[in-house]
Order: sequence, then C-alpha cells, then structure tokens
Amino acid sequence: MADNEPRFGTRAVHAGQQPDPTTGAIMTPIYQTSTYAQEGIGVHKGFEYARVSNPTRTALEANVAALEGAEYGAAFSSGVAAIEAVAKLRSAGDHIICGSNVYGGTDRLFRQVLSRLGLDFSFVDTREPQAIEAAIKEETRLILIETPTNPLMHITDIAAAAEIAHARDAWLVVDNTFATPYFQRPLALGADAVVHSSTKYLNGHSDVVGGLVLTSNDELIEGLRFMQKSAGAVPGPMDCWLVLRGTKTLHVRMQAHDRNGRRIAEWLEADDRVQQVFFAGLPSHPQHELAKRQMSGFGGMLSLELGSRERADAFCRATRIFTLAESLGGVESLISVPAAMTHGAVPKELREEMGITEGLVRLSVGIEDVEDLIEDLDRALPR
Ligand SMILES: *Cc1c(COP(=O)(O)O)cnc(C)c1O
Repeated sequence: MADNEPRFGTRAVHAGQQPDPTTGAIMTPIYQTSTYAQEGIGVHKGFEYARVSNPTRTALEANVAALEGAEYGAAFSSGVAAIEAVAKLRSAGDHIICGSNVYGGTDRLFRQVLSRLGLDFSFVDTREPQAIEAAIKEETRLILIETPTNPLMHITDIAAAAEIAHARDAWLVVDNTFATPYFQRPLALGADAVVHSSTKYLNGHSDVVGGLVLTSNDELIEGLRFMQKSAGAVPGPMDCWLVLRGTKTLHVRMQAHDRNGRRIAEWLEADDRVQQVFFAGLPSHPQHELAKRQMSGFGGMLSLELGSRERADAFCRATRIFTLAESLGGVESLISVPAAMTHGAVPKELREEMGITEGLVRLSVGIEDVEDLIEDLDRALPR
C-alpha cells in the first residue's frame, strides 16, 4: 500500500467514486439500464450488458475492495449467492471444509444444495486450528470460516487457518459480515478472499439484500467475474447504490454499534436474570485474547442465555425498542431466537450439539441511545 493511502473513513466516503463525467453529479448515478450503445461492432465504453457489468455496481465493488484492502470486488444479489459463487469455483470431487457454527443459510446451501452436485463437505469446529488440520484431505481446495460466528461468537484464528490452507493449495475464505472491515481485515491476516452479506452492516439500513466477495487473487476474481456473467446472481443498480450510500457511514456506525454493544454486554453480564452472555469483547469470553489480537473492535452482535424457550419467548414479546425479527446490522436494534428463526433449518440435534439452545436470544444492538436500550431490556427481562 502507498504511504499516503487514505485512511479508512476517507476510503469509505470516496473510494471507487468520482463526480459523474457527463454531468458532474457528486453522487454515483443509479445506472438503471440493461444495455449500452456501441459506436461500432465491439466498440464501446467498457460496458456491454448489465449482467456482466454496470457502473453503479463497479463503484460499489471498488469501494468495498478498498475497505477490505483488496484489489478487486465482485458484487452478488445476496450473501448466500456470493458464498455459492465462491464454492462453485471448485469442482465435483473437491473437498471443502466449513465451520460448524456458520450462518444457517450457508450450512443449508452446502448440505442441501452443493453436496448434491458432487462437492464434498466437512463441517468442523474451527476454534481449534488442529481440528481444521485433522479434516484436511488430499482433495481439500477450500476452507470457509466465519469469525465471530453467529450466534455463539466463536472466534477462529485467521492467520493459523490461512497457514493450514496454503500448505495444501487450498483457499481460505472468511465471512466477515459480523466484524466488517472496520474491525477485522482477514486479507491482511492471510485469507485469500472475504465474503459479505452486505444486507447487514455494510448497507446498515435494513433495506437491501446483497453480497460481495473481495480478493487480491487474480484467479479468484477471474472466476468470480465469470460466475457473475455465467450464473447471473448480480445485484441491480438501485441496490448497489443503496449499499454504496451505506458504506459511506460504515466507520461512524460501527463505532456506535461497538460502544452500545460493549455497554449492553457488560450490563447483561451483571444481571442475575441472565445465565450467560456471548460477546467477544467481554474478558469472560474464552477467546477474548485471540479476538483482541485479530479484531480492533467487537460491534453490536451479542447473544444471551435465558435457560428456556418460555423465558426467551417472554423476553422477545416484552421489548419495545428491540424488534423481533431476523437479520442484523441495521441502525435499529433487533432481537431474535436463533433456534426458532435463523437456525430453524439446522436439525435439532445438531443445533443443540452446537449450543444453540431454545433459551438463547440474539441481539443486534443498533445505534439508538444506549440508556433507552438498557431500559428496554431491563423492563423486558423475565424474573
Ligand atoms: C445474513 C448472512 C449471510 C447470508 O446473507 P444474505 O444476504 O441473507 O443472503 C451469510 N453470512 C452471514 C454471517 C450472515 O449474517
């Protein structure tokens, strides 16, 4: 990186964008078009058909790439479409190692869709690097991890996982949706690519579904661009524009999520109505030291154990500011019960083995005034 590389907030506001050359418009226009005029056969301005490329999408891809410290970005129509595109760069017979506590939709995609097509998966608790090593096969070509995980906030040592992957000519791909590049830069720790559900913190306003892959690896980006063109799970220009508007405030929002997240985690931990709090920023988190080493902040995601489905249910019904809903990472606070909602597709035995109990409640702490949020939780927590 150049000495005078702009800092994070400056990149968030400006990277990938310049005033529109035709009008001077400060904001990147929503290029709502499916095709582009050619001056002669094959003579064009770099854009031929909008599945292949669109200037609003190009701006978003360059913006988030700059935030992750990547050379390239590829945007997809959802987070799972981004993950699918990466997995489909591998071929039938190849082996993929996936974290056992990943997002429920990732687990479903791998177990119920891609394994039918001949990709071979192992699901591994990646908190221990030795467990990744032990799952390696001759055919292992991809390792996908999420850190911190949803909803138990397990941490995986990214640098250690990268070393294991690279000893075997496999790629390490990190789902960085929870930490965002503001708090964690997997590529700098050795990962080959980062995936995001931009539905969450990158967009930050709960009004878009989208995904991105960021990488500096030429083979990966070539494959991903080919996948955008060939499989077509690309986002429309309006959605790209909305995410681009969201990333401009990513640093400011993440600071606020982190401040509120820490305050609420500490407050919950001190309350005896709560059995356990899962938040990597708490010294009581078993992997707090590792989290501090590879993250510069912890954001607004945390979970708490209330002991039973009945108590979790009573809590979720009683909050007024925290709204009962799936998803996360927006400016507004949300509450959910993973076992019944985001992880409903994961078989019950597997869920319980993972620690996703019926009494586990997940909070996505927003950027409202934290005193109001604490009053809301205090009022709603069952005796
Ligand atoms: C939501 C989510 C996804 C899936 O993204 P969609 O945009 O909903 O398809 C993947 N990984 C994580 C960590 C998520 O939270």
